[in-house]
Amino acid sequence: MRIAVLSDIHGNLPALEAVLASLRPYDAIWQLGDVVGYGPQPNEVVALLASEKALGVRGNHDSAAVGELDTDAFNDDARAAIEWTMGELNNDTRAWLANLKRREELEGFTLVHGSPRDPTWEYVYAVSIARANINRFSTTHCLVGHTHVPLVYRQAGSKIEPWLPGKVSQIELDERRALINPGSVGQPRDGDRRASAMLLDTEQMTAEWRRIEYPIETVQKLMQQARLPKRLVARLSHGL
Ligand code: ZN
Repeated sequence: MRIAVLSDIHGNLPALEAVLASLRPYDAIWQLGDVVGYGPQPNEVVALLASEKALGVRGNHDSAAVGELDTDAFNDDARAAIEWTMGELNNDTRAWLANLKRREELEGFTLVHGSPRDPTWEYVYAVSIARANINRFSTTHCLVGHTHVPLVYRQAGSKIEPWLPGKVSQIELDERRALINPGSVGQPRDGDRRASAMLLDTEQMTAEWRRIEYPIETVQKLMQQARLPKRLVARLSHGL
């Protein structure tokens, strides 16, 4: 199976469309949460994912947008965007989001948004955090999102080795336990403004990262019309 692995789409429809066009042909879409929040087209993003029969999990923004997580824990810009999103969601979108679990196991992979021990809030951004999580899932590989940074933490004996996709953008998945992050479709934060996504091949057991251009100005214009926070509009230009 060829699986498009997407995370942190954040209501960014042009980025999602560009990513899917780049990853085709695929047999399935797996998404790792934060489908909505920040971006201006939450209903359109969910409708596209639903029509593609995407599977996956919920993130902190998704839970907050359906009223199942207190918005007090978010920073001001994130909270403002969530409150805007809550007012925008239609019934179909709300039902689709509310149906997502915090954790799934698909084809021998664990899927969570944050970390296996705390799917809602924990960011896996350091070796120490990866080490604390590496035995907290029952499959060999765990797909995570939330940091908006494409990155792998892989067990090597007693060590945890970080690996970043760059010139080499593909790895082989073997018996070593790993936490694998595809990066963010809708709001990258690693200094590269292009959308980030991953293609997982479960027969070859490979994971390949892609960076994909999309019309950022289109999204920014919609965000301005919706009066979403200026800082959120600006950060898409920088990928930070
Ligand atoms: Zn996110």
